[in-house]
Parts: sequence; structure tokens; C-alpha cells
Amino acid sequence: MLDLAIIGGGPAGLTAGLYATRGGLGNVTMFEMGMPGGQITGSSEIENYPGQSEIVTGMDLMSNWPEQCQRFGLKHEMNQITTITKEGDTFKLSAVDGKEYEAKTVLMATGSVPRRAGFKGEDEFFGRGISTCATCDGFFYKGKEVAVIGGGDSALEEAVYLSKMCSKVYLVHRRDTYRAAPSTIEHMKAASNIEEVTNVDVEEVFGDMSGVLGLKVKSKENGEIRDLPTPGVFVFVGRNVLNEPLKQEDGSFLCDTNNAGEVVVDLKMQTSVKGLYAAGDIRIDAAKQVVCAAADGATAAVNIIEYLG
Ligand code: NAP
Repeated sequence: MLDLAIIGGGPAGLTAGLYATRGGLGNVTMFEMGMPGGQITGSSEIENYPGQSEIVTGMDLMSNWPEQCQRFGLKHEMNQITTITKEGDTFKLSAVDGKEYEAKTVLMATGSVPRRAGFKGEDEFFGRGISTCATCDGFFYKGKEVAVIGGGDSALEEAVYLSKMCSKVYLVHRRDTYRAAPSTIEHMKAASNIEEVTNVDVEEVFGDMSGVLGLKVKSKENGEIRDLPTPGVFVFVGRNVLNEPLKQEDGSFLCDTNNAGEVVVDLKMQTSVKGLYAAGDIRIDAAKQVVCAAADGATAAVNIIEYLG
């Protein structure tokens, strides 16, 4: 019987693991299929993590976190939890490989995955010219032209990153104002090889057997269609939370969620079910920042220790 099962190994899960083990819980396991570190490891430039005055990659930022947690006894199980149920006071966890686990408390720290934009060709060319990770795939387009779709922090930050290696970046956005932070907009505007293509809808991404050849965008002002001849298209249109493990047999969720499927928590990161906590991007009103996810994880762990008495 685990004292605490942490689902997800990003900043929220790792920090919860650190605080829970260092705070005295003896049997804490973090379930994470891949390398711990979370979605931030796909970010290429981070300049707002407190104390980190140099711009670093997400990979660099997260590199020491797992080792620090494991020093205090956090166990890492490379398994994917598919379902969480509660029977009496015990949580039952089922994994994709058929293994079952029991835990007194559970922390959902599964975060989110990139959202699809929904244009024609997106599924067909995903992984063959369409990407959601500039750090992973930008290199393939060195010296070439690429398009970035979206108008939030991710799209603009990654457009700036790509502008340093690509000959030109088309920043394609459906409105003419951006959601990104003012300083990020400034960086984007300062890059001479970023062309803003705003107030447009992406009609389709087209290509052939070799991959993407370009995209068609349609002006919202006059309906004009323009072809952007780029072999690479990077999509950053927001994220969907990973709440699948909370789905019960009857289709309901184990705990309260909002319309977007985000988990409802109180200030202790406690959900509507006793002993079940949520931290990071999966919870309601998450600021979706590494520092906030980490803080959520610490808050949850402190309260889990108190709950277990
Ligand atoms: P986001 O802020 O939700 O922005 C998504 C962008 O995609 C918006 O501009 C949106 O357009 C556009 N969009 C959404 N659906 C679309 C569709 N179907 N077709 C075309 N465009 C579409 O997402 P994000 O940039 O991934 O950021 C998520 C959160 O993480 C935010 O809270 C952000 O502040 C945070 N974040 C922070 C940092 C940082 O602080 N360094 C870095 C990355 C992300 P509209 O604007 O018209 O809705």
C-alpha cells in the first residue's frame, strides 16, 4: 500500500515527490511513462523561472529535479496509470500493462498535451512536417522557411526560437492581437525574419509523399487565399488536460471537474474526493507556469502529509 501515488512526473509531480518524501512519507511512487521533467522539456527558451537569470532550455531547467527527489526516497515507476477508482478509504490504480496498485492518497499531476487546431491535413501530415515541438524538430528546418500557428506565449516564444535557425518564420494567427506577454511580443517583433500573417484562418496544410509542401491561409478581411510554401508547420494553439485516469466505467469523473475537464481543487489542492489531490496544469485556474505547478505540488504534499496524520 503506497502512502502516496503521484501520477505524472513534471514540475508538479516532482516537487510533490520531493516535499512528500523529505516531509517523512515512507512509500511514495511517481508514475511517469517517459523521462521525468514534463511538457516544459519541450520548451526552448525560458526566461521567467525565478532565480534563473540566464535564458535556459526546458531540458536544462529540469535536469536536476529527478535526482534531487530520488535522494529523499521518491520511487519512479515507468508505467502508465489508466484508471483510478476508490473503494472505501483505498485508491486502486490500474496500469496499462495490467498491473494494479493501492494507495492511501493520490496526486494527479498529469498536465496537458498539445491541442490540434483542426485544419485539413493536420492529422495526415502530423509528424511528417507538422510538429508541436520546436526544440525537437526545429533543427530539421535549418536554413528553410517554416510557419508557426497560434498567438499565445508558446507560439510567439517558439517562433522567436525558430527564427534563429530558419531563414524565415511566418507567424500565422487568427486575430490581429496576441495573447502572449508584452515582452514576448516585443522579442517576436524584433526578429527581422518573422512575418506576421494575422487575421487569417488556416484552410489546409498540403503536401505529398515526401511531407508538407506548404499551407493555405484565408484572409478574414477579404477572403483572399495565400499559399505559404513551407516544409515545416509548428502548431501551438493551446493544450488539453490529461484527465483520462479519472474517468470511471460509467463515463463520469472520479472527482468534480469543470467544462474543460480541469479538476476542481481548493487552496490545499484537495479535490472533491477525500485523499485525492490535483496539481499543475490539470487543475482549474492553473496559471500554466513551471513555478506555479511546482508550488501546487509542494502545497499538495504538505496537505497530504497532514491528511495522513
Ligand atoms: P494559449 O495561451 O491558450 O494560446 C493559444 C493560441 O492559439 C491563441 O492565440 C488562440 O487564438 C490560438 N488558437 C486556439 N485554437 C486555435 C485553432 N483551432 N486554430 C487556430 N488558432 C487557435 O496557449 P499556449 O500559448 O500554449 O499557452 C498556454 C498557457 O501556458 C498560457 O497560460 C500561457 O501564458 C502559458 N505559457 C507561458 C509561458 C511563459 O510564461 N514563458 C510559455 C508558454 C506558455 P486566440 O488568441 O484567438 O484565442
